[in-house]
Parts: sequence; structure tokens; C-alpha cells
Amino acid sequence: MAPPTFVIVGASLAGAKAAEALRGHGFDGRILLIGDEPDRPYERPPLSKGYLQGKQDRDAIFVHPAQWYADQAVDLRRDTLVTALDRDRNTVTVSGGETIGYDKLLLTTGASPRPLPVPGADLEGVLYLRRVGDCERILQTFQSASRIIFVGGGWIGLEVAAAARDAGVAATVLEADDLPLLRVMGRRIAPIFADLHREHGVDLRLTARVAEIVGENGTVAGVRLANGTRIEADAVVVGIGAVPNTHLADASGLHVDNGITVDASLRTSDPDIHAAGDVANAFHPMLGKHIRVEHWANALHQPDTAARSMLGQTATYDRVPYFFTDQYDLGMEYAGYTEPGGYDDVVVRGDLTSRQFIAFWTAGDRVLAGMNVNIWDVNEAIQHLIRSGARVDRVRLADPDVPLEELAAG
Ligand SMILES: Cc1cc2nc3c(=O)[nH]c(=O)nc-3n(C[C@H](O)[C@H](O)[C@H](O)COP(=O)(O)OP(=O)(O)OC[C@H]3O[C@@H](n4cnc5c(N)ncnc54)[C@H](O)[C@@H]3O)c2cc1C
Repeated sequence: MAPPTFVIVGASLAGAKAAEALRGHGFDGRILLIGDEPDRPYERPPLSKGYLQGKQDRDAIFVHPAQWYADQAVDLRRDTLVTALDRDRNTVTVSGGETIGYDKLLLTTGASPRPLPVPGADLEGVLYLRRVGDCERILQTFQSASRIIFVGGGWIGLEVAAAARDAGVAATVLEADDLPLLRVMGRRIAPIFADLHREHGVDLRLTARVAEIVGENGTVAGVRLANGTRIEADAVVVGIGAVPNTHLADASGLHVDNGITVDASLRTSDPDIHAAGDVANAFHPMLGKHIRVEHWANALHQPDTAARSMLGQTATYDRVPYFFTDQYDLGMEYAGYTEPGGYDDVVVRGDLTSRQFIAFWTAGDRVLAGMNVNIWDVNEAIQHLIRSGARVDRVRLADPDVPLEELAAG
């Protein structure tokens, strides 16, 4: 009997980690890892931080050394778009027309930047950031531009604005809300990020809605806001969120709802197909609902569960969601999950003004999420506290002398 073939569509962090996990769990069949990018799988966080700031080499961004794929007998197909998925025949079709059969399929197709739906969005000098090539274009723009407008004060917009300021480029950030990061951080914590950027010379415009990107000779010359204000710039970087790449899943009739719907074992509505990473809207047992997490740690760890599940083992993904950011001299880690209106208080341990603190988002006397800012080696304890579901006293939660481990013990 021919050895089984496992096909992974999407050759980025989640795809590469899935191939690694399959081999790690003893799978000795064929693995095809198919991706439409020219580079082998790489990590994206450096594209808005270390690599963009010139602090990290290009070689350092890759998930595995080039030789790893041959050593692990992982057939990596680059520059190859999967154009169709036939679930009746268990095949995928790739650009060029080849049809490849699979026994199990993993979709790690990730997400793409949400396009800005205004006139002028196709002008030369309107940039997005997802791929390493996008990062390199922005790096070149840092050399040539004197002012860049960032549309969207989310994580990517703020990180790239920080890199622009470090490179000596004037930066204007346009945020539609009345604070950046308001949805995630809430009114107590979001102002810290606003102040941080203003202190570093960012022209932060709030409740700013872009009506048009204005061009001259086909190139960006500025932006016109809905209130009529015109701001001059040589380039515009758009960071208004990402949309999951569900085309294959949609067209093949898999269940899709804000990403590909999967259970806690990362199985789709088709028993031969799994999904992981940014594209997967996975049932989270601890939270008791589906969540789609667009963060590095999720793309790093979910593939192990997907691989075990593809191999017929019992595996569920229930890690506490986690992400991190670095902007200027502020580094932070955030663990847990909250939504606007889903918490009733924010308890702070430490000093907000010196930007050295831990913030806890709480509902009743339980901690839902925690963020350590410029305080290190505590995130594991925060995750443990969230996972424990322990009832906590707010005064003790705010007291730096009470170890977090003690609170988790209840
Ligand atoms: C600039 C940037 C900075 C970030 N910084 C942070 C950070 O600081 N902290 C953090 O926690 N997270 C960060 N993230 C998020 C993190 O990088 C993502 O969560 C992670 O990349 C998701 O990995 P993935 O493999 O699921 O998807 P992706 O990385 O999106 O990869 C999916 C791959 O599939 C390919 N593909 C899609 N459809 C097809 C098809 N039909 N055929 C073939 N190939 C296909 C895509 O081109 C892509 O290569 C950042 C993201 C970006 C863009």
C-alpha cells in the first residue's frame, strides 16, 4: 500500500510547524507543504519590528534552515497557489494545473490585509504589510519619504509608525476611534499607547476617517479626511486589520464563519480536513466558544494539536491566547481573552505613568486577561491565574507584594 499523503496548504509559520509536528509524532508518509510565496516559511513579527528597524538580519526570520525541508523529507512547493479543493475526490489543484491527492489536508492559509475602500487606494505609494516583500518596500520608503501617513492605529500601524520614527521619518497616525487600540485595551490602558506615540513625535489624529487618498501623477501626495482636512505625505501605510483567507474553504463548501470553523481538535466540517493558525475559528474549551486568533503564539502551537488530530490521536487546543508587542522602549505581553463589554474592571499592579505595570481585566472576582508592560518573567504566572479561574481579591491583585502564584491558589 502506498504511504499516506498529507498536504498542507499555506507555507508560513503554522504550515511549517505542522510539518515539523507530523514528523515529530512519527508520521513517515509524504508531506507536501504548498505556499504561494517565493520565500520558504518565515515569521512575520520581525517585519514590523526587528527586521524593519534594521536590528535583525533577513536570515533570522525563517522558521527553519533551508536544509531542514530536505532533511525532514518535506516537499516544499514555493510560488505555488492552490487554486481548487475537491472534497469528493480528496484532491487539490495548484497553479499550473497539477492535481494532487491527499489522505489528510491541513489548511493554514492565514489572513490578508483588509483593503482600504476609498478612492485613490490603488495609487503608487499606498502600502500594506503582510509579506517580507512588503516590509522591504516600507524599508525603502523610510529612505525616500519625509512623511508617512499610517491609516489605522492598531498593532501593525503603531509598530510601523514607531519604526518610522526610529528611522527619522515624520509619521501621522489616523485612527477612526477616539483612542488607538481601544477595542482591545479599553479606556484605562489605551491612552498609554496614545501618549507613548505622541512623546515620540507621532502626529496622532483620533476620530479621523479617510475619505480619499490624494495623488499627483499616479503617486500618493496625501490624504483627505471626511471632515475635509488634507494631510500631505509621500506614502500611506494601511493597517486596518486582516481578513482570513477562506477562498478554498468557501468554494468547497466547508463551514466558514469568520474563518474556517474547527472544533477543539482543529477538525473542520470534513473529517479529512483540518485548519490552524490565523485562518481557523477554533472552539476554545476554556472560553466555551469559538475564537479566531491572529497571533504568532497561536500559529506556533496550534499545529501540534492539528498534527496529532490528523494522525488520529486525541488532542485539543486550549492554550491561553497570548501576544506581544514592542514599540520604542515599551515591551509588553498580553494573555487571555476579553471583548468590549465582556469585563467590568481593570485592576493595575504597578505604575501606569512610568509604563511598568501589570493590568488585569476582570469580570466579578475572576481574571480574564492580563498584560505585563516592561515587567518580565510573569506572563506564565498570569496565564496560570487566568486558567485557574480562582476568585481574587482586587486589593491583593493590585499589590505587587502578593505573588501571582498565591492568587492562583485561591
Ligand atoms: C507585520 C506583522 C507583524 C506581526 N507581529 C506580531 C506580533 O508582534 N505578535 C503576535 O503575536 N503576532 C504578530 N503577527 C501575527 C502573526 O504573524 C500571525 O498570527 C501568523 O503569521 C499567522 O501564521 P499563519 O501561518 O496562520 O498564517 P500566515 O502567516 O498568514 O500564512 C499563510 C500563508 O498561506 C499562504 N496562502 C494563502 N492561501 C494560499 C493558497 N490558496 N495557496 C497557497 N498558499 C496560500 C499565504 O500567502 C501565506 O504565506 C504579526 C503579523 C504581521 C503581518
